[in-house]
Amino acid sequence: MRVAVIGQGYVGVTGAVALARQGHHVTGVEKDPARLRSLAGGRAPVCEPGLQQELGLALGTGRLSFAPGLSRAHVAEPFEVVLITVGTPPAEDGAADLSQVKAALGEVAELLPAPYAVLKSTVPPGTSERLTAEHPRLRDRYAYNPEFLNQGSALDDWSAPSRVVAGVWAPPVVDVLRALYGALACPWVVTAPTTAEMAKYAGNAFLATKISFANECARLCATPDLNIDQVMQAVGLDPRIGHAFLQPGLGFGDSCLPKDTAALARWAASRGLPTPLLDAVIDVNRDQAALVRDTLRRELGADLPRSEVAVLGARYEPWSDDVRAAPSRTVVPQLLAEAAGVRVWDPATDADELARLFPGARPCADLRTAVRGARAVAVLTEWPEAVEADWSLLATELAAPAVVVDGKNCLLPERLAGLPLTYRSAGNRLPA
Ligand code: NAD
Repeated sequence: MRVAVIGQGYVGVTGAVALARQGHHVTGVEKDPARLRSLAGGRAPVCEPGLQQELGLALGTGRLSFAPGLSRAHVAEPFEVVLITVGTPPAEDGAADLSQVKAALGEVAELLPAPYAVLKSTVPPGTSERLTAEHPRLRDRYAYNPEFLNQGSALDDWSAPSRVVAGVWAPPVVDVLRALYGALACPWVVTAPTTAEMAKYAGNAFLATKISFANECARLCATPDLNIDQVMQAVGLDPRIGHAFLQPGLGFGDSCLPKDTAALARWAASRGLPTPLLDAVIDVNRDQAALVRDTLRRELGADLPRSEVAVLGARYEPWSDDVRAAPSRTVVPQLLAEAAGVRVWDPATDADELARLFPGARPCADLRTAVRGARAVAVLTEWPEAVEADWSLLATELAAPAVVVDGKNCLLPERLAGLPLTYRSAGNRLPA
């Protein structure tokens, strides 16, 4: 099939590469000139395992190309299907900003001959209904087909998703989706677009609930007679629950859960529908981001304003460069407001980028320099370089008496045992 994918962010670029790998002829449409240049030059604009190599291979087959706009490429050789994978960032009031979706849908509606339009961006229930009302011709050729990929396994998730949700008004559009995705060994849920929109939000709200639940358990397990690791291990072994998303820490870190939970709450409020559970999930998450600051206030007391803090990790996960809503974006400003100085080390982020992300903090190129003379260390990413570090050596660099706050519960407590530092985490992890 001739396919266009509008928006080459995490979802769009991995989708374009995956569909080209499958044998389709794909044009990735991207309006950001820098991102477009990078793609055309074969450089993946986002960090995803395997993407760089697969992008090169797909370009080599001639089945993948990139363009700044949709219409000119369509005139040359019409697209049969256009996927829309543009951003739906949070507006100031927490609602989803739909301006990119609206504009992209308008572009598709103008194409002749008309392609099938498949919206994959996450949008509040009722959006497809409302936006296609402006383009009635689209409705028989339209699907709302939410994307469920995980950053860190995005390419694999395109080829082997857990499920496909196809929200359509006209049943033949499902056949188009089946032809597009090929044989997939997963269930399909065929429904109306509004239900499909809700299914995406509800799924993310549930994942967010698991995270806030784990963090609430961590708060209950903040005493030496309880061990949060063992509690969550035991809980997750129940096959009805599972271990995924039950890791206590600093709260949601990816860019989707914060914005999607807020947007769902806004959507419900606009209809006068109460969301007590979702509100609690969001509240627990907001408070959890203060774990590092609150722990340092408690441990260092009046010394905190005179102390240097070393922050280890800017990313929320080592394999993702998506720092739009990473805990570091909240934690570092909180620490800057409290401490004498903040240094930030992240092995995958260069000094210029660290300076841009964290004005007022000092970027550090290596771990030892970052901790030298610091009174406190905050671990915000489970970088192997930090987890596997020789902490007995790092402890000699710290200013005594030092505190290490493990915001990802990723350090191995036994490696820190006996060292001249106080170890704190989300919940107690030290043996009784
Ligand atoms: P993103 O913000 O990283 O990328 C969007 C891209 O679209 C940008 O590069 C932007 O320049 C481009 N764009 C916007 N309008 C355009 C237009 N008219 N023409 C050409 N290019 C245009 O977004 P993302 O993280 O890939 O997410 C896309 C959507 O998918 C969002 O709704 C998000 O909630 C949803 N989603 C994201 C993930 C994820 O892990 N990132 C997972 C599932 C669903």
